[in-house]
Amino acid sequence: MNRNHSITVLSGDGIGPEVMKQALKVLQATSDRFDFTVSTEECLVGGAAIDAKGCPLPEETVKACEQADAILFGSVGGPKWVNLAPDDQPERGALLPLRKHFNLYANLRPGVCLPALQHASPIKNELIPNGFDVLCVRELTGGIYFGTPKGRDDNQDNPTAYDTMVYSKHEIERICRVAFVAAMGRDKRLCSVDKANVLQCSILWREVATEMSKEFPEVELSHLYVDNAAMQLIKQPNSFDVIVTGNLFGDILSDEMAMLSGSLGMLPSASLGNQKDNGLYYGMYEPSGGSAPDIAGQGIANPIAQILSVSMLLRYSLGEDDAADAIDKAVKSVIDQGLRTGDLYTGAGNETKVGTAEMGTAVVAAIQA
Ligand code: NAD
Repeated sequence: MNRNHSITVLSGDGIGPEVMKQALKVLQATSDRFDFTVSTEECLVGGAAIDAKGCPLPEETVKACEQADAILFGSVGGPKWVNLAPDDQPERGALLPLRKHFNLYANLRPGVCLPALQHASPIKNELIPNGFDVLCVRELTGGIYFGTPKGRDDNQDNPTAYDTMVYSKHEIERICRVAFVAAMGRDKRLCSVDKANVLQCSILWREVATEMSKEFPEVELSHLYVDNAAMQLIKQPNSFDVIVTGNLFGDILSDEMAMLSGSLGMLPSASLGNQKDNGLYYGMYEPSGGSAPDIAGQGIANPIAQILSVSMLLRYSLGEDDAADAIDKAVKSVIDQGLRTGDLYTGAGNETKVGTAEMGTAVVAAIQA
C-alpha cells in the first residue's frame, strides 16, 4: 500500500487556523510514529479567500484539492461577511460547491460522549454509565433538500409551497454501502431510519437496505421510524452503533446527537464520495461546529474536533487505521487526565484548564508515549 499521502489543508476563518495548527501537529506526530508521510498544501477558503481573492472558493484551491487524497477543512464564516449575497458568503460559497464538485454524498457524524465528560451530556448520567458512541451516516446530496419541483404559489387566497422528496435506488444503495462498511469496522449493528409508514421514498429505502444486508451477513440490520429513533436516542443512545438515514432526517438526528454529546468542540465529521478500488474514500474532514467568532484569536478554542477530523481522515481516506486508533486513544487519555479547554471546564478538582496549544501538545505527548 502507498504510504506517501497528500492532503489539502483549508483552515478557513475564526478559530479554524488556531485549531488546525494543533491538528497538523498531531498529524505529524502520528506519521512519525507509524512511519508514513503526508505532504500538506495549505490553500485559501471562505472569508479569508474572499478577502485575498474576491471569492470564497478560488479555482487554485479546487485544483489543489483535486490533486490530493483528501481535504482537511477548518471552518468558515463570521460577522465580517454576513452582509454578502447568500451564494457569495463563506459557508454557502465554499462548502456546497466543494461537496458538489467532489460528489461527497455521505456525511458521517459521530456522536460520542466519553465517560469522563458524561456530566456535559443533558442525558441522565445513570442512563449512560459508560458514555456512548454512535455514528450517524446521513445522505447529503439528495432527498427533499434537492428534489424538484419545489416552489410556491402566492397567486391565491391561501398561498401554497411545496418540496419534493426523491430518492433513487442507486442513491440509497451507495449511502447504505458506506454505512454497512462503517458498521463492519465497529460493533456491526446498523439501524436504518426512515418513515416507511408514510413516505414512498422510505418504503424504497427500507427495501434497498434490506436487500443490501445480504451482502453484509455479519451486520445486524434493524429499522426504526424517525420519530421513534429521535426518542430512543435520548432514552438509550447506547442501543445504537451506526445509523443510516436520508438527508432531512439525518440533518435533525445528527444535531440531536451532537447536543446529547454535550460538547460541540469534541465532534468531527466526514463527507465522503465513492469508495475507490482500494477500499478508501476521497473525503473532506472538518469539525461539526463552526468558526466560533466569539472566541477566535484568544487561544482558548477546543482543538479536539479538528484533531479527531484528522483521525477520520487517516481511517477513511488514507487507510492508516493504526494511526487513527492512536489519535482516538490519545484524546481519551488527555480527557481522562482531566485536561479541559474552557468549553469543557467545570472547575471540578480533578480538572486542569488548558488553552488550544496546550491541549494539542498534550495529545501529541500521548501519541508519543
Ligand atoms: P459555532 O459552532 O461557530 O459556535 C457555537 C458556539 O459553540 C459558540 O459559543 C462557540 O464559541 C462554541 N464553539 C464552537 N466550536 C468550539 C470549539 N472548538 N471550542 C470551543 N467552543 C466552540 O456556530 P455559530 O456561532 O452559529 O456560527 C459561527 C460562524 O460559523 C457563522 O459564520 C457560521 O456560518 C459558521 N459556520 C461554519 C460552519 C462550517 O464551516 N462548516 C459550520 C457551522 C457554522
